[in-house]
Amino acid sequence: MSKKREFQTEVAKLLDIVINSLYSEKHIFLRELISNASDACDKLKYWALTNPDVAKTSGNFKILIKPDEKEQTLTISDNGIGMNEDDLINHIGTIAKSGTADFVNNAKDNGSVVELIGQFGVGFYSAFMVAKKVEIITRKAGEEQAYKWESDGLGGYEISKAKRDSNGTDIKLWLKDDAKDFTDTVYLRHVIRTYSDHIDYPIVLDLGKAGEETVNTASALWTRNKADITDEQYKEFYRHISKNFDDPWLTLHFKAEGSIEYNALLYIPTNAPYDLFQPDRQQSLKLYVNKVFISDKVEGLMPAYLRFVKGVIDSSDLPLNISREMLQQNALLAKIRQGTVSRLLKELQKRAKDYDDYLKFWKAFGVAFKEGIYEDFSNREEVAALSLFASTNDSDKLTTLDEYISRAKPEQKAIYYITGDDVPTLRNNPQLEAFKEKGIEVLLLTDPIDEFWTQTLPTYKTFAVKHISQADMDLKIERKDQKADEGNLKKLTDFMTELFKAEVGKVEISEKLTKSPAALNVAEGQMSIHLERLMRNHQQQTAFASTRILEINPYHPLIIKLSEMISDSQNQPQVEEVSRLILDQAKIAEGEAVSDPSFFAEKMSAYLLKGI
Ligand code: ADP
Ligand code: MG
Repeated sequence: MSKKREFQTEVAKLLDIVINSLYSEKHIFLRELISNASDACDKLKYWALTNPDVAKTSGNFKILIKPDEKEQTLTISDNGIGMNEDDLINHIGTIAKSGTADFVNNAKDNGSVVELIGQFGVGFYSAFMVAKKVEIITRKAGEEQAYKWESDGLGGYEISKAKRDSNGTDIKLWLKDDAKDFTDTVYLRHVIRTYSDHIDYPIVLDLGKAGEETVNTASALWTRNKADITDEQYKEFYRHISKNFDDPWLTLHFKAEGSIEYNALLYIPTNAPYDLFQPDRQQSLKLYVNKVFISDKVEGLMPAYLRFVKGVIDSSDLPLNISREMLQQNALLAKIRQGTVSRLLKELQKRAKDYDDYLKFWKAFGVAFKEGIYEDFSNREEVAALSLFASTNDSDKLTTLDEYISRAKPEQKAIYYITGDDVPTLRNNPQLEAFKEKGIEVLLLTDPIDEFWTQTLPTYKTFAVKHISQADMDLKIERKDQKADEGNLKKLTDFMTELFKAEVGKVEISEKLTKSPAALNVAEGQMSIHLERLMRNHQQQTAFASTRILEINPYHPLIIKLSEMISDSQNQPQVEEVSRLILDQAKIAEGEAVSDPSFFAEKMSAYLLKGI
């Protein structure tokens, strides 16, 4: 009795893309199926640790590749964990990973097929690039009943009961006419050696009458000597464990010795993954204990700000039969984390010496990495030192904090920054005028995360880290130009304070502005306007909106003129109008919306007309 079932919608779409892809590197299906076979052996090995019944059936793991030239088929077999009926339905007919479905719905062109198959862990379906029909015979470890799954990739799939002598899985492919190469043992040997050499289990090629031949090295890559590993092997292993198709930007392989011993093979990808900013911020290193795969979800193995690091950590000092949950509280794990983080930071320090090279890393991962400044208390100075920032410095290169310090004025005691939505707008922010005038550099920070680390890093080396509104050094500019009369200014500020009382807490005279008539600021210690806007955009309640301060420039002709006009009550309507436009301008410079756009547009046009 077999039962016909439909594929989940996303799977059907995915299969449609895979089947019709003209993607030339069809051989990747083999490494995907071998990788699944290897995962299945890993799972059984782990399960056997805690289950004596299962342990009886586990051992002598091997992956068998059997071509049949006459039949035009290729069969990939393993003696791993196997699948029962539920597993077949849930793992083979469904895409479980979040984000994958979205991607499939958006992937139209051939270019994205590679990414689909790699990054999104939809490896099994790549079999349909070469096969017109796929049959799976599988039996789960610890269970008696075997099952057959079959499909042509088009009209759903069927599952029926089957026979298999022991646990494991056979995946049989009926090859398409243009995939006949995959019965050629010379070609198969080549493909397996090139792409699957690092697999920890023997991959055995069935040569028919000529017997069997183990094709790969079959030893865990990370336990081998660095000198015996080629760049290509490192890269292939990276692709295997990360499911990425790019090259690693960083490869770091080392053996730690001392109070705890472990092997680490770590990679930083070249490209950022699609899920870098998913809320769970899960690390994804694979933890092995003495070459037994334990988990790739061990919390605390890598801090969240380094969640993009891929690779393997293998320690024989950790207890083998510990539960994954207990592991997270293990003190040894914290030691491993400290050790690997400090090695990684050291590597980054070396690579940071080459700006163009380092910039690639920074563009892909900098925003996540900066989270370390407030998250990794013990390394925050190192993480800050490795971070790059835009600044008012003339160079178009991003700057480090140390470079900033090297350019600081002799009397300067702080690193100044301003936050906002984008660098070009920030550059023109009126708050920067005095800093420009005095030649003091200011960091231009535009990532939401910048609002947070700046709050938790009070000092860097001997420098305070300060928002420009908190500048305590003397920013007064020597002026020879005309200034508004004190008495008149007082009247104008009183008038504006009353006029704007709903929106602005205070109107102040500022000595820090040069070109602009006015600028918006917040009172010291309050949330910046940019952060407030970020929170608004994320629908967060801003329970305490910061008190706005409107700073006006007493040297600006517009302010001088208004302060002269204010004494004559006849002028009041016009002073009011112009004052409102000045506040609107200050808002625009901060990236805020004007309060009444139609008023603004209408008045602006009217004044422009008078001007020309
Ligand atoms: P991934 O390997 O990223 O999970 P795949 O599409 O390659 O995605 O495989 C989907 C799932 O099918 C696997 O997670 C596993 O549960 C199951 N699977 C595939 N091949 C095997 C196999 N040889 N033995 C046991 N389970 C398998
Ligand atoms: Mg897979």
